[in-house]
Amino acid sequence: MQLGTRLQSVIGGRTAKALEEDLGLRTVADLVHHYPRRYVERGRLTSFADLEVGEHATVFAEVVRSHSEMKHLRNRPKPVKKTDVTLRDAHGSHLRIAIFGKWNADAELRPGRQALFWGKVTVFREAKQLQSPDYQLVDDDQGDRVGEFALPLIPLYPGTAKVSSPLVSTCLGLVLDDLEVGDDPLPAELRAEHGLAGLQEALRLIHRPADWAEHGRARRRLVWDEALVLQVVLAQRRRSLQQQSSTARPGRPDGLLAAFDATTPFVLTDGQRGIGEQLAGELALTRPMHRLLQGEVGSGKTLVALRAMLAVVDSGGQAALLAPTEVLAQQHARSLRTMLGALAMAGELGAAEVATRVALLTGSLGTAARREARAEVASGEAGIVVGTHALMSEGVEFADLGLVVVDEQHRFGVEQREALRAKGQAPHVLVMTATPIPRTVAMTVYGDLEVSTLSELPRGRSPITSHVVPLHEHPSWVGRVWERIHEAASQGRQSYVVCPRVGDAEDPKQPDEEGRRPAAAVEEVLPVLAEGALAGLRVAALHGRMSPDAKDEVMRLFVEGHIEVLVATTVIEVGVDVPNATVMAILDAERFGVSQLHQLRGRIGRGAHAGLCFLVTEAPEETPARERLEAVAATTDGFALSRLDLEQRREGDVLGAAQSGRRNNLKLLQLLRDEEVILAARTHAAAIVEADPELAAHPALAQAVEAVLAPERADYLERS
Ligand code: ADP
Ligand code: MG
Repeated sequence: MQLGTRLQSVIGGRTAKALEEDLGLRTVADLVHHYPRRYVERGRLTSFADLEVGEHATVFAEVVRSHSEMKHLRNRPKPVKKTDVTLRDAHGSHLRIAIFGKWNADAELRPGRQALFWGKVTVFREAKQLQSPDYQLVDDDQGDRVGEFALPLIPLYPGTAKVSSPLVSTCLGLVLDDLEVGDDPLPAELRAEHGLAGLQEALRLIHRPADWAEHGRARRRLVWDEALVLQVVLAQRRRSLQQQSSTARPGRPDGLLAAFDATTPFVLTDGQRGIGEQLAGELALTRPMHRLLQGEVGSGKTLVALRAMLAVVDSGGQAALLAPTEVLAQQHARSLRTMLGALAMAGELGAAEVATRVALLTGSLGTAARREARAEVASGEAGIVVGTHALMSEGVEFADLGLVVVDEQHRFGVEQREALRAKGQAPHVLVMTATPIPRTVAMTVYGDLEVSTLSELPRGRSPITSHVVPLHEHPSWVGRVWERIHEAASQGRQSYVVCPRVGDAEDPKQPDEEGRRPAAAVEEVLPVLAEGALAGLRVAALHGRMSPDAKDEVMRLFVEGHIEVLVATTVIEVGVDVPNATVMAILDAERFGVSQLHQLRGRIGRGAHAGLCFLVTEAPEETPARERLEAVAATTDGFALSRLDLEQRREGDVLGAAQSGRRNNLKLLQLLRDEEVILAARTHAAAIVEADPELAAHPALAQAVEAVLAPERADYLERS
C-alpha cells in the first residue's frame, strides 16, 4: 500500500470521512504519521487524576463492580441495556461509568477484568465521568491478548467525538502490515552514521512498539525526519537570500555615523563595538545581510541598530525601524531624535552640517500628519523611519529602503518581516529580540538568520533584586511594597505597578477560564492606591486601550519625572526605557509567563540606582505557579529563564506563534530534548543543500520538503 493512497479506498467510507473531518487525515501517509500521544503499559493502570475535563480520553482501568439492567430511555421505543461499571485506577481511585446498549457488557466487564475505556471527560455531581463511554477488552477470558491490543505497550491516540483512540488503532492495523514507503527521505549515509532505523520500520514501531527500546528507536528516527526537513527548508531559504543582490552600504568617513560617534557620550560596550563592526562589514557587501541580534534586556541593542542605520543613510539609503507597539515606536522616535540631536534636524534651524530626519509612522496619525510623514519617507528626506505595522501599509513608499530593522522580533511573524522587506530592493535586514532564546529555538524559528549575541550590559547598569511577596502566607507584606515605593519617590525616583488587566467596560470583572478570581486591573487598582497606600504621590495609568495621544502624553510626563508611579498593563513590557524608575510591583504575578516577567522587570535597574522588583502573588507555596515565580526571583539570567519558559510551554506555542504553518510538521521534535539532533541536522542540511541545492539526488527528501512548503505558501498567499 502506497503512502499517497486515499484512506477512502482502504477503510470504510464513513470512517474515512470521520478521520478526515475530525483529524484532517486523508491519505495513508497522514494516518501513519498520526502518532500516538502516549502509551499505556499493559498491567499499569491509568491515573484518573490526570483526566482533563472536556478532552476525549482513553483510560486503561480495572473493573471493580458492574451491574446491568434494562432501562427505558426517552426517544427510544424499546428498553436498552444499561451497565453501571465502577473502574479502579493505578492509585485505587474510582470512576463510575454507564454503558448503554451493549448486550454482553456485564459478561465481559466482570470484576478484575482490565480494559481500555474511552469517552469525553465531563463532570457530573462533582465527580469526573466519561460521557457515552465505550470499551475494548485487551485480554480474553483466559488472559490471552486480543487483536491490535496484543502488545505490551498500548498506543493511545488523540481522540475526538467520532474517532476514538481504538478506532485509529484499528485503521492503522489495516495499513501498517503491507505499507510501502518507497524511497527513504533520509540519505542512507546519514542513517548509517547515526544508526537510524529505516522509515518503514520506524513507522511500524512507533505504532506497535514491543517495548520502550523499540519505541525509542522509532522516535529517534522520526525526529530526524522532522529536524532534517526543517533544516533543509531553512538552508534553502538562506541560500536563496544569499543569491539576491542588494546595494552595498559601506558608509563614508565624513558622514552621520562618524559625527555621531564623535559626539555621543556613550562608551560602546565591547559587544556593541564588535557587532557594530560585523554589521558594517556585511552592509558593505552586495549580498543582503540577514542577521538576528539577540541581547539581554537593556543590553543596548537600539544603539547598535542606530549605528547601522546611520551607515546606511551615509550611503544614500534609508532605514526603517519596525516596532511592535505604538508606545515603543513613539519612544524609539523620541530617543533616536534625542540621541542624534542636531544630526536629526535636517532642514531645521540649528541642524548639523550633515543631517537627516527621523520620521514616525503609526496607525493613529491624523491625516495631515500621516501625509507629511509619508512625503518625507517618499522623498528620502527622512533617512530613518520609525513605525508600527503601519509602515507596511500600501501607501508607504520609500525613496530607497536599504535596511529593515525589526525590534522585538518575537512579536512579529516572518510574513511581516517579508512585507517590509518587499518595500526595498533586497534590503539588508537586522532583527532584534530581547527574549533570549536557546540555541535550538534560534536555529528553528529564526533558522534563516545568522545570529549575533550581545551578552554584556553597558557599564553603570545596576543590579535588580527580586522578591516574591506571598499574600497567601503573609497578607501584610504587601504594605512593605507600598513603603518602598514611597521611599523611592522621596529620593526622587519612580516606580511601576503592573496589573494583568485593564479593568474597563470591555474587560469586566469575571472569573477567568480556570475559575480564578479576576486578576488585578489598572482601573480598579489605581483609585484604591491613589487614595490609600500611595496617597500623596503622583500616580497615573497607562494601558493599551488609552488613545495613542493619551499614552504618549503619560509616557512623556513619566519620562520627565512628573509622574512618580505608573500603574500599567504589559504595554510597558517591551523596550520602555526610563532609567530613573527603580521599583516595580507586579500584582498577581503568577498570571504572567516567565519571559514576560523577565521583560517587565527589565524596565527597572536601567540607571545608576539598584532595581527592586516585587512579584506579588496569592499562589500558595509548592504550587508550580509559585515555583515559577521563585525561579524568576532567583536569577536575572535571561537565557536560564527562557529555558525554563520553554520547558513549561508546548513546542507548538513557541513555534506556532513565530512561524505559521510549520507547527503541523513538527509532531515529535522537542526543542530542548532533541537539541543534539537539531544541531546535527543543521550541519547535514547545510552540506546537502550546498552540494545539491535543488535536491536532485534526493527525490524523497525533496518531496518531504515540498510537503512542508506547499501549505506554507498557501498560508502566505492567503494572508497577503
Ligand atoms: P535593549 O537592548 O533592551 O533594547 P536599549 O537599547 O533600550 O536596550 O538600551 C538600554 C539603555 O542603555 C538605554 O537607556 C540606552 O541609552 C543605554 N545604553 C545603550 N548603550 C549604552 C552604552 N554603551 N553605555 C551606556 N548606556 C548605554
Ligand atoms: Mg529594545
